[in-house]
Amino acid sequence: MPSTVGLRPAHLDAPKTDHPRISYLAASRGDITLSVRLLTQAGLDAGDELICKAGPDGLRLTADTLRKVYVEVTGACNLACATCIRHAWDEPLGHMPLARYTRLLDGLSAVAHSPVQPFTVSLSGFGEPLVHPEFLAFVGLARARGLRVEIITNGTLLDAALARELIALGVAQVTVSMDGGDEAAYAAIRGHDREPAVAAVAALVEARRRARRRLEIGLAFVATRRNIDSLPGLLALAHDWDLDFVSVSNVVPHTAEMAAEMLWGGAAWAASFPDTRWRPRLEMGRIDLDERTRPALAALWDRAPTWPPPGAEGGPQRNHCRFVHEGMLAVAWDGRVAPCLSLLHTHPEHVNSHWKTIKSHTVGHIDERPLLDIWRDAAYRDFRRRLRAFDFPACFACGGCPDTDTNDTDCYGSSFPSCGECLWAQGIVLCP
Ligand code: SF4
Ligand code: SF4
Ligand code: SF4
Repeated sequence: MPSTVGLRPAHLDAPKTDHPRISYLAASRGDITLSVRLLTQAGLDAGDELICKAGPDGLRLTADTLRKVYVEVTGACNLACATCIRHAWDEPLGHMPLARYTRLLDGLSAVAHSPVQPFTVSLSGFGEPLVHPEFLAFVGLARARGLRVEIITNGTLLDAALARELIALGVAQVTVSMDGGDEAAYAAIRGHDREPAVAAVAALVEARRRARRRLEIGLAFVATRRNIDSLPGLLALAHDWDLDFVSVSNVVPHTAEMAAEMLWGGAAWAASFPDTRWRPRLEMGRIDLDERTRPALAALWDRAPTWPPPGAEGGPQRNHCRFVHEGMLAVAWDGRVAPCLSLLHTHPEHVNSHWKTIKSHTVGHIDERPLLDIWRDAAYRDFRRRLRAFDFPACFACGGCPDTDTNDTDCYGSSFPSCGECLWAQGIVLCP
């Protein structure tokens, strides 16, 4: 379990090394002294809490630094997907005004030019960002400040001209949501013809090729019973187009219709136990996957309780909040700041065979304080410590109780919000 220890940044003449990124630490009686040079090289701000984690190879040092913000450009969308949270919440929809967005960016000036890890603005949220009439200004303002920009879009409004503009502005990554590896599967989820989204990906690929500029292009797929059979088709498409990634998430069931379609009931339960509880634990070296080995390997995976199998290299972690470990938060179109996308809007979820109301958790407002001040607020910092320790009960193993009808508390007496039944933290739901 990570622990936060007393670390004192100091102006030291650190021993010289040949490696530009390696310096040495002086440690005595429980204190570690870091040279300013090392802090600067690592992009760590001395004002941020430093976190030290003991592991088999020694100590790992990270910082509680804000690195990425998901910006909900708008709550509006031109589609009405069966999976969408917007069917199930009772909240006003609107566009984020440009003045509010500018304030948000102004609050990031101190982290905008990190030499090591560029700060990322993800233009996404629960709505379609391209519906916003000033969307390109959102991209341009972030790029003018040297920020790395990612976009998540349904692609239906992204044509060849816009693809070229995104490349010219230096957008780093575009994810197109495509919940179907064929027309029928896509239409069954999105209630819309797939062709515009396919054309958007083709336009991005072509614009990237012509401009010879770096742009990561990926697909996001939300798996349900009605579209899972088409997943190989989506992977084939991504392979043919030479895309950079495909992100496959589970559905968050906001409606009874989607509760009947989810594919993770057993996986959520299995995630409650350490990987070492699975007997026999399987350790394998890398083996070629070809006609000769595929049947045997498929039979092995058939015995695994989930995919990826417990303990698989690169598989999602359990009791692990990516938002806190990767320094991310979310801002709603109306300026509210939340620790994650799940806590951005009050909404229903069907988890552990019961309906649960996830109440939104606001840690600040863009119109009132700079974003970095909000990030460094003592109460929010304490919440992140709780999340790193993940001191919440294993509700998926237990099976649910009246305490978990909301995220107010749990049987540990946790204060709001309790994250024991969070689908993100158990690796069930992923955000690109
Ligand atoms: S594209 Fe996204 S925001 Fe729009 S309806 Fe579908 S899931 Fe909801
Ligand atoms: S554990 Fe889940 S609900 Fe809690 S902050 Fe992380 S993503 Fe949000
Ligand atoms: S709060 Fe406690 S009793 Fe209730 S479901 Fe979670 S682990 Fe079980």
